[in-house]
Amino acid sequence: MKPSKTILITAAAQGIGYATALRMANAGVQVIATDINADKLAAFADVENIRTARLDVMNPAEIRDFVAKEAPIDMLFNCAGIVHSGDILDVSDEQLHQAWELNVMSQVHLIQAVLPGMLSRKDGCIINMSSVASSVKSVANRCAYSVSKAAVIGLTKSVAADYITQGIRCNAICPGTVETPSLQQRLRDTGDYETARADFIRRQPMGRIGQAEEIADLVLYLSQATFTTGHIHTIDGGWSA
Ligand code: NAD
Repeated sequence: MKPSKTILITAAAQGIGYATALRMANAGVQVIATDINADKLAAFADVENIRTARLDVMNPAEIRDFVAKEAPIDMLFNCAGIVHSGDILDVSDEQLHQAWELNVMSQVHLIQAVLPGMLSRKDGCIINMSSVASSVKSVANRCAYSVSKAAVIGLTKSVAADYITQGIRCNAICPGTVETPSLQQRLRDTGDYETARADFIRRQPMGRIGQAEEIADLVLYLSQATFTTGHIHTIDGGWSA
């Protein structure tokens, strides 16, 4: 029997990262579930195929040390990200900088850390979290977020092109609106939860918000879909269709 592969997942303590850790583990993949919030990772305590570790993706030295310790890593799901509200006149340099560091540079640093090992085995799968709010669709009030998530698509295509003949696949996921703790917080932050939720539901022609488990299914698919690389995989209830 072939030994099972290992996937490193960032931001796995809640939301899409959490659901994906469970989905991959259930499929027999060895999961390293990481997050800056170590306490919340305790929810995985007795789950088969999952080990957990605190990892701050904003810290390049921590990333390098962690990957060296945990190698070999066959697959990477760069899930960590932050959403800022606001248009170009509202957004501060600080917010733009934070979005860039957390949404883009963390993915760059993780890829730089895992790629040499993947290349030595001529086998690697990288999945980067983008969003439809990027170069896929114009979304109001998401300036810093859209700038950074569009950059994730560029990063994905660049890595895919450079290593396509060396066994490395790199794809991006572009979800629409997904039910997660941070989405709940964004709805509460509007000051009118019910109206905001109805507005968010209306964005999807399917008439509902997506579930984190549905995004997890796409990550599992991409981990197995050996003839796709350099693509964006949109999963948005038809929002951008
Ligand atoms: P979330 O925002 O609810 O949770 C984010 C997790 O990231 C938390 O567990 C937090 O502790 C962790 N985190 C924050 N800073 C970190 C750091 N420096 N290092 C490591 N971990 C850190 O999760 P979500 O809503 O599932 O979003 C996950 C990803 O999916 C993000 O990149 C987000 O932009 C993207 N996304 C979400 C939606 C949505 O509607 N929820 C839609 C499209 C894309």
